[in-house]
Amino acid sequence: MGAQIVNREFVDELYGEGELYSAYGLYERKAHGYKVFKVPLNARFVCPNWDGRLSEDGCAFCPSHAKQFTYQNFREVIDKGFTEQIRHNVEHYKSVGAGEKGLVYIAFGTNTYAPVEKLRQILDETVSAHEDVIGFTVGTRPDCLPEEVLDLLGEYRSSGYEVWVEAGQQTTHQHTLREMNRQHGLAELIRAVDECHAREIPLLSFIILGMPGESHDEMMETARVISAMGVDAVKIYPLVVMKDTKLARMWEGGSYKSLGFMEYVNLVADFLEHLSPYVLIQRLSKDCGLEIKHAPEWNTYRNIVTPMVKKKLGERGTMQGSRHKLTLAADELIPLAEDKPGEFYEELKAQRKKKDA
Ligand code: SF4
Repeated sequence: MGAQIVNREFVDELYGEGELYSAYGLYERKAHGYKVFKVPLNARFVCPNWDGRLSEDGCAFCPSHAKQFTYQNFREVIDKGFTEQIRHNVEHYKSVGAGEKGLVYIAFGTNTYAPVEKLRQILDETVSAHEDVIGFTVGTRPDCLPEEVLDLLGEYRSSGYEVWVEAGQQTTHQHTLREMNRQHGLAELIRAVDECHAREIPLLSFIILGMPGESHDEMMETARVISAMGVDAVKIYPLVVMKDTKLARMWEGGSYKSLGFMEYVNLVADFLEHLSPYVLIQRLSKDCGLEIKHAPEWNTYRNIVTPMVKKKLGERGTMQGSRHKLTLAADELIPLAEDKPGEFYEELKAQRKKKDA
């Protein structure tokens, strides 16, 4: 546990160029020598937390109409074949100058929740849909990655495709996972990271800040835990109160209050400071329209969080990893207490207080 797949030399170069956090997009450009864009694919997967396999209630923040989470620009092809969706999106992103090559993001639902041979068919179609596709990234739950699926993903990786797993973990705290009806714990993510890394596949984790009942210290501990596990990248989101969810009922009843804009900006800055400097940052927020959510209102408009987080880090004079510390350094392993029999710490503290007064 702990060794990442990301190339730390590229990340160090980013910091050397003055970046305050290790942005995934900049890293990818360094790794490939060209700009890579993500190509959303709706492969029509459902979720075991909705269909009764794990539960019929879904996560407390997940609307049952989750399929409406589509990107505006490809709603018109959503019902067409996978190849058509990918071609349409690759051409669209290239035409707006998003980059040279695409990484297909299989994004909607739990995208490994299907028999392995069906997955193989979908992934074969994905990588051969367009000459500018360099691989894929699969959004899934950390408990939906059996050996057979991991081996399948590993086959594409061994064939030279870029392969990522994006695991919806959201938090490392059991009480929140239970409250949100996630139906998995932290152990599933620990295993998923190890198994992906064994196949040279990097793993991204989704993290939500502002979960009900989760303290500031607990959110920072999530940053520390995923760093210690060797998670390669993260997407950080505020908890959004989508309509028709259990969370919406909590919000309507007054037992949940969503984060304010500056509250979230400060939390993200804190989270980045506690995170390892080598965890790539793929997103710092999530924007969606008022028609499908109750709150917060501020994340309706695209991309207002990222510049504010950069500004906040700049004002603080800090950066990603500033407060990341999981051990004393070797040159700090020098006892401040003298080895005198009978002199214990209370006495020592009293002496220090006297000296400082
Ligand atoms: S695992 Fe994902 S798709 Fe399934 S209910 Fe939870 S948030 Fe929704």
